[in-house]
Amino acid sequence: MTARQSKPEANSPFTGDRYLAVTHEVTNQPPALENYNLFDHDQALQEAAEREGAGHAVDTLRAFGDLAGNAATIDLGFRANANKPVFSTHDRFGHRIDEVDFHPSYHELMRIALENGLHSSPWTNPGTGAHVTRAARYYMHSQVEAAHCCPVTMTFAAIPSIRKQPELAREWEQKILANSYDPRNIPHTEKNSVTIGMAMTEKQGGSDVRANSTLAYPVGSEGPGQAYELVGHKWFVSAPMCDAFLVLAQAPGGLSCFLMPRWRPDGSKNPWQVQRLKNKMGNIANASSEAELRGALAWMVGEEGRGVPTIIEMVAMTRFDCMIGSSAGMRQAVAQATHHCRHRSAFGNRLVDQPLMQNVLADLALESEAALAYTMRIARALDNQDQEHERLLARLATPVGKYWICKRTPNHAYEAMECIGGSGVMEDCIMPRLFRESPVNAIWEGSGNVQCLDTLRAMQKEPDTLEAFFREAAEAKGTDARFDRFLAQLQNDFADISDFQYRARNLVDRMALAMQASLLIRNAPSAVADAFCASRLESNGGMNYGNLPSGTDSEAIIKRATPVVG
Ligand SMILES: Cc1cc2nc3c(=O)[nH]c(=O)nc-3n(C[C@H](O)[C@H](O)[C@H](O)COP(=O)(O)OP(=O)(O)OC[C@H]3O[C@@H](n4cnc5c(N)ncnc54)[C@H](O)[C@@H]3O)c2cc1C
Repeated sequence: MTARQSKPEANSPFTGDRYLAVTHEVTNQPPALENYNLFDHDQALQEAAEREGAGHAVDTLRAFGDLAGNAATIDLGFRANANKPVFSTHDRFGHRIDEVDFHPSYHELMRIALENGLHSSPWTNPGTGAHVTRAARYYMHSQVEAAHCCPVTMTFAAIPSIRKQPELAREWEQKILANSYDPRNIPHTEKNSVTIGMAMTEKQGGSDVRANSTLAYPVGSEGPGQAYELVGHKWFVSAPMCDAFLVLAQAPGGLSCFLMPRWRPDGSKNPWQVQRLKNKMGNIANASSEAELRGALAWMVGEEGRGVPTIIEMVAMTRFDCMIGSSAGMRQAVAQATHHCRHRSAFGNRLVDQPLMQNVLADLALESEAALAYTMRIARALDNQDQEHERLLARLATPVGKYWICKRTPNHAYEAMECIGGSGVMEDCIMPRLFRESPVNAIWEGSGNVQCLDTLRAMQKEPDTLEAFFREAAEAKGTDARFDRFLAQLQNDFADISDFQYRARNLVDRMALAMQASLLIRNAPSAVADAFCASRLESNGGMNYGNLPSGTDSEAIIKRATPVVG
């Protein structure tokens, strides 16, 4: 009710009486996007989960979608980011503690993630749809808050590496896979559940870990499973409150992988010391640190001198999670933008009904759906590693997808922010967080060029990976002439890969596009597949979002992507 309506005529400013300070009615603002189900309101996710093998888990996914869209859960994400982690080197009596104090909201998000098995379910319940189900839940949870997903991912991803040393796996695995969260800074022997981090990067090199200078001195016998003391430094150690870390260090026989707990078996603190926390532009709720290892006790995992092949098992899984995380960031950006434009009017019409905005929104939605389709296909490949095609596909499609999906996210976040206008820049909107988070997945776990080089490595080491990739993409042949031409040209361009490094970005870009187009042609509604082929496989003269050609059924694409809330 307006001030004028609410006041008797006698009090009207126009009669000379004092005017109540009711300045205006708030109109043309959307309701908050909360108390909605992230599964039920995501058509593409529902279809992908069903298609890739998680049909049996629909009830679980729906329940989780409800939790993730709850206003109280969303609020945890805001609070965890508004209150940065605080680091203390010592307690008030002068004892070294290396303790990071997180906001309770961060712990609550961690509790939700771990109690729901986002770090464990494909290992504890492997089989059809296991990775797909977990990916779908991670996708929803990461939309609420991405930063705390870092330790969730590392804990999940550590399993394949730790299993390379069976006696260490026997000691640790049950606690790593326990669906509970215990953040206390006490020895792992006193806990029922633990989290795992990774420490590879040093000041002189992150991509090129062969440059690691941290040294590993054998305590007694040498070799796999034996104890060493590590001396050196690490330039990035995220989630430093983890109970143990997989660390790379130079043993006498070469760069090796080690499991380094926070505490020694005698109950004393293991001397790896956090120097300071990183002052990050994104990934705020999660702490990342610089550390020194001053004789930290650690056990060798895998063969001596084979540290990279050992830890790469973990890295492969973290790269997969980067794909889920960036797909999730794009999905949340689309949800926010479409929701806003559905409720907001300008120049007499709702934004969602205006042709130019329709072009932008539909383009953003396409990017998001293509990322999800790709990610969920790889999740299915991970569920079927006993099949040769799936193993080869996962090997090559992981670096391709990690490169492409993560790299497409920052501009996507910015465009979605612009759809919301000035309010999209404000910190009480999730968009600034999505934007700040968006480059992180692209840079850590091997940045863009490193993914391109890994694509080359996979093809050179196992040429069958390329064959499997093209075989999978070719499943869509014969439906869309644009796709058929694009794929043929791409395959042709692989005839000579002698200068692959120089051309790698162009080739890997097109590999990703070919696979996304193939998946959409086979599985998505024709409006989505057609628009994707028209805008991504054939040049239409534009570099920014909002370049879908005339004739695109933007309304259908937007309708499919919009969470109808309020
Ligand atoms: C928020 C955050 C948290 C992190 N947490 C962890 C952690 O917990 N544990 C951990 O070990 N690390 C962590 N990292 C480090 C991260 O993995 C590295 O920053 C990353 O691997 C890149 O290494 P670098 O920074 O040394 O860059 P560099 O290796 O110097 O690379 C710089 C650039 O050069 C490119 N490049 C490298 N080699 C080539 C080549 N041969 N040809 C062409 N281009 C090349 C890279 O792609 C990159 O773009 C974290 C990083 C961030 C931002």
